[in-house]
Amino acid sequence: MSPLLIDSYKREIDYLRLSITDRCNLRCIYCMPQKGIQLLSRSEILTFEEIIKIVQILVELGIKKIRITGGEPLVRDNFLDLIGKIKKIKGIEDISLTTNGILLNKYLPRLYELDVKRINISLDSLDPVKYKEITRGGEISEVLNGISNAINIGFSSIKINIVMTVLLDKEDIWKFIKLTIDNPIDIRFIEMMPVLGLGSIECSSTSNIMDSNSAKLNNFTKNSIKEIFLIMGKMGKYYKIKKPIGYGPAVYYKIEGGKGNIGFIFNDKNCCSSCNRIRLTPGGTIKLCLFSDKEFDIKRKIRSKINTEEIKIDLMNFVKTKSENRQCSQNFNTADSIKISNFMNQIGG
Ligand code: SAM
Ligand code: SF4
Repeated sequence: MSPLLIDSYKREIDYLRLSITDRCNLRCIYCMPQKGIQLLSRSEILTFEEIIKIVQILVELGIKKIRITGGEPLVRDNFLDLIGKIKKIKGIEDISLTTNGILLNKYLPRLYELDVKRINISLDSLDPVKYKEITRGGEISEVLNGISNAINIGFSSIKINIVMTVLLDKEDIWKFIKLTIDNPIDIRFIEMMPVLGLGSIECSSTSNIMDSNSAKLNNFTKNSIKEIFLIMGKMGKYYKIKKPIGYGPAVYYKIEGGKGNIGFIFNDKNCCSSCNRIRLTPGGTIKLCLFSDKEFDIKRKIRSKINTEEIKIDLMNFVKTKSENRQCSQNFNTADSIKISNFMNQIGG
């Protein structure tokens, strides 16, 4: 089928990030404020039937790959049934999952059976105390159990997402890189995206206060990257991987002889030229860009029983309004001003 979701810059949209809940069992410092956020009421959250209906429409418009995310997707009751139903939709080539890994272990066998074999796990430190601080209470052993069992079971892609916070130190970097040498695991160092409502992020073990809205972050990120490359160099010969890995914007390197890869994801508007994705929020809106406030209220259309063909036309027109890049998505002139206006658990990262 020829793609129907094509924006004004000729980018073909075939990838959906599907956030199935805004609820989460953690409170990561870069994602949510400590006191939590106003969660959607049950009636505001898309039902499974509505999700299936929307995914069906999107697949008919050319979506082929879906990543299930949240909030924490594994806290939504019966999420495996939902995945099972999505899997039956003709035209979907790949279903993957992003999770914090806390509940992963018990669901691994069923996920494998459902062919959800590409899993991204968020883990920003390998130190139990720092992990607890970053996630505001998470127990790292639960995540590590999930990761080692996923390797044993033979999941085809296991990626660890590491948001670079001030708590990421040399020891952590060393241990993370070692993981990629010894295991078939990819790690991705991710630049922290500034979230409008979060203000400053303070970590007890350092006097350094990182303002998530400030340009200081860019210098901080640059220094962390330098440190990572320095450590990579000490651990072996490394080289850049030319072939893309997965469907995302990461750039990957490998330590010679290592089983896994080391990736980087930057908050860089130059990545936008190959953007192939849209997002469906748990509240039933479609977003074209993490950095844009523009939303298409597909839930309202479904609930008011608007004809499917009409919804498809509206969607195709909406996709045409996708901005050229994240900077153009907002009414700011400088890159430093770009912020995400929803908390990440509401969009799915
Ligand atoms: N709860 C799941 C998890 O943590 O993997 C899925 C949802 S989470 C919002 C999706 C991804 O967004 C995670 O990898 C998380 O680290 C990332 N994320 C959240 N806030 C972020 C921020 N401010 N900057 C960069 N990445 C962020
Ligand atoms: Fe929850 Fe994921 Fe946000 Fe952490 S990053 S608070 S695990 S949704």
